[in-house]
Amino acid sequence: MGYDYDKVEVPADGTPIQVVDEDADELDVPENPIVPIIHGDGIGKDVGPAAQKVLEAAANATGRDISWMRVYAGESGREKYDENLPDDTVNAIDEHRVAIKGPLTTPVGAGFRSLNVALRQTLDFYSNVRPTYYLDGVPSPMKAPEEMDMVTFRENTEDVYAGIEWEEGTEEVEQVREFVEDEMGFDDVMHDGPIGIGIKPITEFGSKRLVRKAIDYALEHDRDKVTLVGKGNIMKFTEGQFTEWGMEVAEEEYPDEDVFAAPDSLWEEQDDIDVPENAVMVESRLADAMLQWMQLRTDEFSVLAMPNLNGDYLSDAAGAQIGGLGIAPGANFGDARVLAEPVHGSAPKRAGQNKANPSAMILSGRLMFDYMGWKDAGDLVRDAVEETISSGKVTYDLERHLDDAEKLGTDEYAEAIVDNIETLS
Ligand code: NAP
Repeated sequence: MGYDYDKVEVPADGTPIQVVDEDADELDVPENPIVPIIHGDGIGKDVGPAAQKVLEAAANATGRDISWMRVYAGESGREKYDENLPDDTVNAIDEHRVAIKGPLTTPVGAGFRSLNVALRQTLDFYSNVRPTYYLDGVPSPMKAPEEMDMVTFRENTEDVYAGIEWEEGTEEVEQVREFVEDEMGFDDVMHDGPIGIGIKPITEFGSKRLVRKAIDYALEHDRDKVTLVGKGNIMKFTEGQFTEWGMEVAEEEYPDEDVFAAPDSLWEEQDDIDVPENAVMVESRLADAMLQWMQLRTDEFSVLAMPNLNGDYLSDAAGAQIGGLGIAPGANFGDARVLAEPVHGSAPKRAGQNKANPSAMILSGRLMFDYMGWKDAGDLVRDAVEETISSGKVTYDLERHLDDAEKLGTDEYAEAIVDNIETLS
């Protein structure tokens, strides 16, 4: 591809990752790949460098190296380029295929649109994947947190995140109101006076490719169930349609012996269904009820696929069950590309204090390693994080729920993980 970069350099000592087959999601990963990294805003400045150090140690311990290509967005983008999301950054992530980022701040109510959403949409990272699993020693409000072993697939480009909305008081919002009332006949819900209006697009294309990714994941990772989560009883033609398209994928695109489309869970008890041996069952659940089942019947769920906003809420709630946002990893996947990023945001009030927990960003790096085919390095990262926490060395967010734990700063905690990487490898 060979972009011309304005203010960043492509590291000369690294080798670019190559695409072998985009449709088959196949990359050729060298032993010393170039990996772009955005440290991020707020606590990103703490957890970004800490994660970089730990991931590099795991790569080295498994006989590899990473040539980091530091790129900038958010506050660091404004400082270096006077732009929130410079072309250099988008191009570096586009060209190098595998990248990792810390959180970026998005102002609420006014100001610029989310840079996270812009990055996901520009490079078509259409599925946001968040594995939620328990690590030994992590304090949890649940009685049996180890029952949680769930992977959420969140559609990443559509829904209310598409950013089609109009601000109160503008000419555009009045045009939309007029159209909806006069042309479409919804004149009893708009009231007079100030109004904000947004649109929630859910497409067949976007829904089906996300559900396909979730089912393929379940088949590849020996998971027995994919649950489609929507609020189709209320948003019939968006979330209800998502579920219908998802069930169509299950029914039409896979052999019956591999994928079994279950009858509607609203009417039939799922426990009594006779699923063919070794087949992945695809079922649907309403989003509000799902939030309680996730807590009360945790071990019944495995892979979940859902529209964008549901995925945002549900994965934070799932993260709370296994110790909170400081520990919850994620990654955005497109075709033959990944951008790993923690579930959490920039937590501005904790920023720059060498305090935040870097585990979420470190474990997001584990997802990136797995995608690169570096499973040994990914497992080493996971084991070293678990060993550190279970030995009682933790950051403030976990320490406040534990008796007798040692509270470490972000850097010291990362160093303890690096020590464990060296011991375990
Ligand atoms: P947040 O940044 O995720 O933080 C909420 C709270 O979660 C923190 O105050 C802290 O709890 C805890 N927390 C989060 N990350 C932690 C970590 N690494 N270690 C320890 N504790 C952690 O959510 P927010 O405050 O709602 O959002 C702040 C900004 O981040 C907003 O601008 C939002 O748009 C943005 N955001 C960005 C992304 C992204 O970049 N992908 C994602 C979500 C939000 P305590 O206060 O209890 O210690």
